[in-house]
Amino acid sequence: MKYVRFLVPGTTAPRLGRLHDDRIDELSGWDGDMTALISDTDNARTAATVAQHALPDVRLLAPFMPTTILCSGSNYHAHNREKASSPLSGKEPEFFIKTSDCVIGPDDEVPFDPILTKKLDCETELAIVIGKPGRHIPLEHALDHVFGYSIVNDVTARDRQVRFRSDGSAFYELGRGKVFDGSAPFGPCVVTADEIPDPQRLRLRTRINGELRQSGHTSDMLWSCAHLIHIFSINLTLRPGMVIITGTPAGTAWSVDKELGGNWIPPEDGEPVVPARGYNQPGDVVESEIEGIGTLRVRVSSKNN
Ligand code: MG
Repeated sequence: MKYVRFLVPGTTAPRLGRLHDDRIDELSGWDGDMTALISDTDNARTAATVAQHALPDVRLLAPFMPTTILCSGSNYHAHNREKASSPLSGKEPEFFIKTSDCVIGPDDEVPFDPILTKKLDCETELAIVIGKPGRHIPLEHALDHVFGYSIVNDVTARDRQVRFRSDGSAFYELGRGKVFDGSAPFGPCVVTADEIPDPQRLRLRTRINGELRQSGHTSDMLWSCAHLIHIFSINLTLRPGMVIITGTPAGTAWSVDKELGGNWIPPEDGEPVVPARGYNQPGDVVESEIEGIGTLRVRVSSKNN
């Protein structure tokens, strides 16, 4: 089942619905609150349809505004080969946090702000939506805590993230490089976990202005979705509506940035990926696609802001 949150033109109250191809069945109840729905899956499954809408007739919103987005970086082998790597312990995933302040929805604009960054980059990532609370969740039961999956574009200010010491070694300032207005486009829907029995078997793609820039596979993750749930639940009680994002594959603009240690490598499976032509520019259309979920499209604002 695919759940969406949306606005009907001329109205201001978000509604929830089930997406069927190009049709949305609007659900009764819930008051537009996806987190309430996620917390009450039995009633969600049987909720009645009160209206039907053609997808082009509504405006999709971010499925909900997560309080916390737990983020793992450097989590694909292929991405780690294309960038200036900061040594990782190998014992724990890289970890940082975004909040709802960063979230925008489908077809929204990512601010273009040269004061913040001159190296705006995008990262298509599989997003895990937590459904069942837990702390110290055992690895073997981790996926039982998943309500569903979605897409987040982990928009990054690369020149704030990547720093170099005087000996030439790299280190990352993940807070300043990752957390800013518009840095977490989220959507277009949440697909329930029963439709994705194995989250390590999904193809991810990024297109910029129609050009295929990223093509990777979740089987290339260092830390699986189950591992990330298990490990992050050591820090925080995971609650319904929290989101975990799982890293990005190769093909970022960083890969062609020699100044920041970029090292573009053609993909091994032969998909016709085009090397990045540089960082995001005003007006760029960025499409993040994940098999079984859909495509999240955003535009980089055409004016400075
Ligand atoms: Mg990322």
